[in-house]
Amino acid sequence: MDDMTLLIDLFSRVERQGPGGKIAVQRALELAQLDSDLDLKMADIGCGTGASTRILANRLRGEITAVDLMPQFIQAVQSQNLNPAARCSIKPLVASMESLPFQDNYFDVIWSEGAIYNMGFLNGITSWHRFLKRNGILVVSEITWLTQKRPIELQSHWENIYPEVATASEKIAQLEQNGYAPIGYFPLPEYCWRQEYYEPLKAQFPDFLKRNANSEAAKALVDTELQEMALYEQYSQYYGYGVYIARKL
Ligand code: SAH
Repeated sequence: MDDMTLLIDLFSRVERQGPGGKIAVQRALELAQLDSDLDLKMADIGCGTGASTRILANRLRGEITAVDLMPQFIQAVQSQNLNPAARCSIKPLVASMESLPFQDNYFDVIWSEGAIYNMGFLNGITSWHRFLKRNGILVVSEITWLTQKRPIELQSHWENIYPEVATASEKIAQLEQNGYAPIGYFPLPEYCWRQEYYEPLKAQFPDFLKRNANSEAAKALVDTELQEMALYEQYSQYYGYGVYIARKL
């Protein structure tokens, strides 16, 4: 199996492919002040297997286009049921967030958790701007420095992986400079990393290694994930996901 197949093999078996959770979605929804009785057109970009897509679909009314580059994740989105009382449908779409086939001024809400880094925060917020209606809402989570100062080894680590890592005030300024009015920010609570994401992922490692006959590539993937978790355990007071809520001007 190549590295991508291994990634999909591991990550399609967990509920979430990144930090997040029900309470965080709820908090973002409250800040966004969305009316759950209106018929909303929404997109969840980089939805993975759709954990947040389903939470949104169970709480809001309308239609959510669930977009991901990986057909296997989109398949998983399709195979899961909503509450019988849900008033929202999910429209699955395999596409790249960098070349989305949407009309201008189409969406009331663009949601994206733990995914915009794939094209870069600034690139993402500027490219997606035209798809939102006037006063449409953007909700996006992005790796964020939680403090002004941090240990130098941590700073170099993140700057190597993702040069756009910055503080919330810098991210909020980028939103202001690019046609949005920020209306909310909160740092994703730590349990959204540990309980909602890392623990279920970790629980998959033994079966994943067994399924893949303890191959070097499978072990390397597990190692990378364990290193990421150890980094978080050591430095979680300095970085996390910021959740940004903004309105299109
Ligand atoms: N939002 C989900 C998944 C986050 S992981 C959650 O919070 O659980 C990031 C997701 O972005 C993965 O599912 C990955 O397949 C997707 N992705 C990566 N590059 C992409 C691209 N260019 N276009 C669309 N999706 C992409």
